[in-house]
Parts: sequence; structure tokens; C-alpha cells
Amino acid sequence: MDALRDALDHVRAELRSGASPLLTAAALLDAVAVSLHAQFAPALRPVINATGIIIHTNLGRAPLSEAAQAAMIGVAAGYSTLEFDLATGKRGSRLTHPERALTALTGAEAALVVNNNAAAVLLLLTALTKDREVIISRGQLVEIGGGFRIPDVMAQSGARLVEVGTTNKTRLSDYERAITPATAALLRAHASNFKQIGFVESAPLAELAGLAHERGLLLLDDLGSGALLDTAVYGLEHEPTVGESLAVGADLVAFSGDKLLGGPQAGIIVGKAPLIAALKQHPLARAVRADKLTIAALVATLDHYRKGEAISQIPIWQMIAAPLDQLRATAESWAHTLGGEVIAGESMVGGGSLPGATLPTALLALTPPNADAFAAQLRAADPPVIARIADGRVLFDPRTVFATQGDDLLRAVRSAL
Ligand SMILES: *Cc1c(COP(=O)(O)O)cnc(C)c1O
Repeated sequence: MDALRDALDHVRAELRSGASPLLTAAALLDAVAVSLHAQFAPALRPVINATGIIIHTNLGRAPLSEAAQAAMIGVAAGYSTLEFDLATGKRGSRLTHPERALTALTGAEAALVVNNNAAAVLLLLTALTKDREVIISRGQLVEIGGGFRIPDVMAQSGARLVEVGTTNKTRLSDYERAITPATAALLRAHASNFKQIGFVESAPLAELAGLAHERGLLLLDDLGSGALLDTAVYGLEHEPTVGESLAVGADLVAFSGDKLLGGPQAGIIVGKAPLIAALKQHPLARAVRADKLTIAALVATLDHYRKGEAISQIPIWQMIAAPLDQLRATAESWAHTLGGEVIAGESMVGGGSLPGATLPTALLALTPPNADAFAAQLRAADPPVIARIADGRVLFDPRTVFATQGDDLLRAVRSAL
């Protein structure tokens, strides 16, 4: 009704201004249909990611495995055991579902899942270090995407930031000298989205653990991405794993669910049982708790790791592990249909994981008269295709395009051509 009234108002306004609008019913209804389509077209919609950036923050980070999608739908459509214990018929905890898988996978005593890693870090600082001092290296006072700044999060938590060392070098002795009776913890934050090269030095986590425990302090590790598998196997740099942090003595480790884990947006904290218990009790934990869809998808994702099938089932690991000759074959088949040339290029892991690390790939390169206009046309396709532009060329990386999206991609590019 609103759309019909708007269309009629528009016609009346045109008549009043002396114009002669199309007054057939068909023309009016067409205008109404166009306006309704525009109003109900979801702004949040699937796109084809041809950028080759695997964990693309702007495109929704990690795509979920089929099992994770099915698990979400399973609990979304009806009622579930979210907080219900079938054995006793009494109230259960939503936290038990992912905790079992997380402790089994990481060797941690206990685990807690919250809404995202920013919330995880805020929670652990607030619950364990409020009004006390937390020592961190100047080289780790990072800002990651979306305005998450370590110093700001610390201020918000009520912890007092004590920065030590310099931008490029921080030694164990720097931490040691800064410890006072007011110190609660040493914090290590992963640099995530930048890399220091040259004369760089930082204290190894194992040494920080030794110092912290000798002085009765906590060692908290904001690991950021939180890999469970070794990225070095795929020709990437070694990204510190959750298990390694725990093994060298971190008391609590916080990481994201939708970076290198390849699951839903979530913040995961693993570590010592009494500390996790304290976090669970804190009012902030309730404010930042994860919802049932997240928990369902996370458990399904973690189970891929437990069954040893992460590489074959989790999309981001399939993409990381995709063999170059397979990527080249796809790029060549695209070139066969669309023209253009296949060139060597690089895919990126993205998402604040492994800054600067790339994987060799094969790209389809097209050279339209106007690359920006061409890319805009691709974004207007349904589904939209997001490509990379470099040196006046539009580049398509098969690594991040699902096999099921190939036809849509070809159709969108052909129509833009
Ligand atoms: C990504 C990241 C965060 C924030 O995680 P979200 O899950 O995006 O909230 C916090 N700390 C570090 C070091 C990160 O890399």
C-alpha cells in the first residue's frame, strides 16, 4: 500500500508540475514493483570473493563448512538443548557444548566462548586485572581492524597499562623492571596485521611465563587468529598455535573463531580452570555471551579438527591447501571462456593473520578499457563479484571462488564484457 501511494503521489506531483506522466496501470505497477524490489533487496547478501584474500574481513571472514551450516540450521529452526541437560532434565549450560571439544583439542583445562575475541580480551582483563597493572611491550600496542586498540581496551577494562621496551625491541628485563606490588599480569598481544623487520627483538612467551609465575603473576596471551594447525606445512610462515601458547605456560589464551580457526564469529578463551571459572562468574560474561547459532557452528567446526578432517572440510583450510596446478587449471578454463590471460600472482591469508604472507596462485587478468567501471559492473551483478584491480587490470583469483560459484562468475564477467 505504501509503495502504491508513493507511486500515485509521484504521478500527482508530476501532473501538478505540468508534466505528462505515463498513466497506464501497467506503467504504475511496474514502478511499484521496481520500488518494492529495491526496498526488499537485502543489503547483507552473499558475494563471490574473487580477490584471493581468504579471511576477508569486509566480506565476512571465514566461510563455514557444510557441517557447520547444517548445525546452525538444526538449532535455528526449532528448540534445542542449548541450556538443558537431557540426562537430568534440569538446566544445563550453553558453555559445556564447545568446552569439551576445545579442551580436547588444545589440552587446556577449561574453555569459555563469548561473542568475539575483542569481547574475550575485554572480559579477561576486566575480570582478572581491573584496578591493577598489566605490563605489555610497546611493540604490541596494536590497533587491529574496526578500531580495536589494545590500549583502549585495557583502559575500558579498568586495568592500568604499563608499557615497556621500545617499538622494535623489548627484552625480558624490561618486563622484570616494571613489576610492582600492583602488577596483576603480563600481556602478550599478537601483532596481527603488521610486521616488524630489521632490528627487532621480543621476549619469547616461555620466558614471559617463567617470569610471571616466579613473581605470582598471570600470563595472558591475546593470540588473535588462534591457529590449531601448523600454517608452515602450506608454505606460509609459522603462525603460533593455541597449543604452543598453553604448552609454554600461558595461563589464558584468547583467540577468534572466524580467523584461522575457520568457524563462526566467536571469542574463545582457553586455559587454567580456576581462571576460566572466574570469567564465567563475571557479569560481563553474560553481556558478551555467544548465541546458539554460533555455538552450534563452532562445535561442528571444532569437530572437523578432532576428526582430522579440517583440511578437507573447512573452507579456509581447503583454500590455503589448494594446489597451484588446480588453481591454474581453473584460471585457464576461465580464460578459455572469457579471454584475457593467466598470470602468476599471490593470494593472501588476510584477517589479521600472517601479515604479509602470501601463497602463489594463478590469476585470470582482464584488461577492459576502464578497470574501475568494469569492477563496478561486476559488483552490480547478482550475485555480486568482487575482484582485485592492479595496474589497470582486473584480476580474478580462483583460490577464494567456490567451485559452485564458477558459472555465476563467468556469467557476470561475460555480461560486463
Ligand atoms: C582479530 C584480533 C582481535 C579481535 O578479534 P575479533 O574476533 O575480531 O573481535 C583481538 N586481538 C587480536 C590480536 C586480533 O588479531
